[in-house]
Amino acid sequence: MNQNSNIEFISRESLEKLQLSRLKETLRRVYSFSPFYKNLFKKEGLTPSKIKSLKDLPLIPFTTRKDLRENFPYGLLSIPLNDVVRLHTSTGTTGKPKAVFFSRNDINSSAELIARSMKMTGAEKGDVFQNMMGYGLFTGGLISHYGAERLGLLVIPAGAGNTERQIELMFDFKTTVVHITPSYALYLADVMEEKGFNPKKDFNLRILYLGAEPYSEKTREKIERIFTVDAYNSYGLSEMNGPGVAFECKYKEGMHLWEDNFIMEIVDPSTGEPLKEGEEGELVLTSINKEAMPIIRYRTGDLTYIYPEKCNCSRVHRRISRIKGRADDMLIIRGVNVFPSEVERILMDLPEVGRNYQIVLDRKKDLDKMKVRVEIKRDFFDGSLDHLKKVEIKIKAKLKDELMVTPEIELLEPSSLPRTTGKAKRIIDKREI
Ligand SMILES: [Zn+2]
Repeated sequence: MNQNSNIEFISRESLEKLQLSRLKETLRRVYSFSPFYKNLFKKEGLTPSKIKSLKDLPLIPFTTRKDLRENFPYGLLSIPLNDVVRLHTSTGTTGKPKAVFFSRNDINSSAELIARSMKMTGAEKGDVFQNMMGYGLFTGGLISHYGAERLGLLVIPAGAGNTERQIELMFDFKTTVVHITPSYALYLADVMEEKGFNPKKDFNLRILYLGAEPYSEKTREKIERIFTVDAYNSYGLSEMNGPGVAFECKYKEGMHLWEDNFIMEIVDPSTGEPLKEGEEGELVLTSINKEAMPIIRYRTGDLTYIYPEKCNCSRVHRRISRIKGRADDMLIIRGVNVFPSEVERILMDLPEVGRNYQIVLDRKKDLDKMKVRVEIKRDFFDGSLDHLKKVEIKIKAKLKDELMVTPEIELLEPSSLPRTTGKAKRIIDKREI
């Protein structure tokens, strides 16, 4: 992979030249193979030759999740089916999942992006990588697996769940690197302690990759403290690559999005109008290094912004901020916009708060009600009732102050909320539509 590592440090001009040539090739491919794109271009009176510079990209309409569903399974396929070597799906909450396809070269370039990302954080040959991402149809497991092997790590394909076995593997094989969801990392620490282990001292962990669900900076700090590790943010989505679309470098300030593989834009989520660097909006991605199923101007639904400044590491690939949430994750409580990730940030900032919380939404007499159920650390929970009441008032005031909503607060003892081995179910919405 070394022959490609200078791609991280080439000039902006060379990078954009590469982007344009890859974009043109991608457009020719989708136009000649994919029934969906052929139609879309025709409807707009476009041909690939009309896209002469990167600035022309917005002439092409967005591709949405709805387009993927409506053209399931093969409408966006851009190579003959017998050149496809792998399919993955991403779970949809309703209806058909989204299917994504990989050619042999796609598998290689996906692995390369993971290898590059891991290398950037300091992982190297000699590290033992325990992959706790789900294997199977979900891209998280297999794509990370291939990338880590490519970098030369010893890979333990543990998959998600089975926490006691995870701990045993980590202990027996002296795992140093783990890919995990943030909520599962916290749960893992709980179980380690229950089993009499010290997460700080009894293991050889040094690097954690966190991803697959939004979480706050405070949660990262908490996880780093619990395990004494460096925890890095990662970003990915099945439609683009799976994991490895963007990753943090050692400076941990924003994630470098691999711009030799993707063109990124930030748009206003309601109007689709382009926004400037530094302005927060919806991330739109175009895959420019894919054969089987490139997607043009894909509305990811993820809210972020591009850092206008260059990173201290001097990589040319620009950084995106941690994902604030999905545009459609936003809750509207009595007319106030609330992101669950903000609730989490505020909660995790309070010393009394433990490791888990849940937001319950309900509607009474046409009014939305929000209840925050939150686990309190043992020391605080076992204090006097008076003291508990004070904690409750403090949490309520803090949320009201920063979010302009006054939720009902329910304090819970540690480990009382249901614990999950994958993505946490943080929001229970009981409102009737
Ligand atoms: Zn950097």
